[in-house]
Amino acid sequence: MANSLLVRLQALPWAAKEGFAMLLDTVTGAPERKQAALAYVKAHATAGNPASVLAALDDFGRNRRFLMNIGDEKGPLLEKYIHQAGTHPRMLELGGYVGYSAILFSQMMGRSGQLVSIELNPQAVNVAQQMVEFAGLSGQVDILQGDSHELIPQLSGHFDLVFLDHWKNLYTRDLQLIESNQLLKPGSTIIADNCGPLFNPDVYLNYVRNHSLYTSTYISAHLEYQTIEDGVEVSTWQGS
Ligand code: CA
Repeated sequence: MANSLLVRLQALPWAAKEGFAMLLDTVTGAPERKQAALAYVKAHATAGNPASVLAALDDFGRNRRFLMNIGDEKGPLLEKYIHQAGTHPRMLELGGYVGYSAILFSQMMGRSGQLVSIELNPQAVNVAQQMVEFAGLSGQVDILQGDSHELIPQLSGHFDLVFLDHWKNLYTRDLQLIESNQLLKPGSTIIADNCGPLFNPDVYLNYVRNHSLYTSTYISAHLEYQTIEDGVEVSTWQGS
């Protein structure tokens, strides 16, 4: 708990700077951030080259405006889990934002991988679709716009990988919904971003760590493009 308070105090200057930047955008009528990121990618990355799209998004997120991507520190730490998922991996993502993680994980899975991304915000869906198309990955990524609580029960088959990165207080609810809809199989890996102390992850961490059918491990890192502590919880489903 003390650590949690310390991390929040450390995050205050960043949060204040972000708040001021958002206010400035509103007052000056600056282009919407997600649209600005897309324009930046189109100007600085190469069409059909996913790595160049990720590099441009990292550059934009680090040096221009913060983007809540998994980012270039936490992202590469997950590669081994993606590779463990077999030769034709299928991944479900909750919270797609501008398409960064869809592009990153699709690239890691290779051409035989398939990713379904659920995103609530129509603006983000629009940007992510253009981002994925620019990266040349439209054939591998299916972006669904809507509420995860309504869309998860409409899914079928099994997912080898699940990436949780939407509203933090919905992780447990939606993982339970994924379980009850039998979308997991033995060995399915659940990757939950933003499980660092800044995000109040205790409910979710208690759930996966105390559940007899998950083995769970925490990867410590930093919040994307910042020096603030953050981490990813990786949990493997042992149920049927
Ligand atoms: Ca995140």
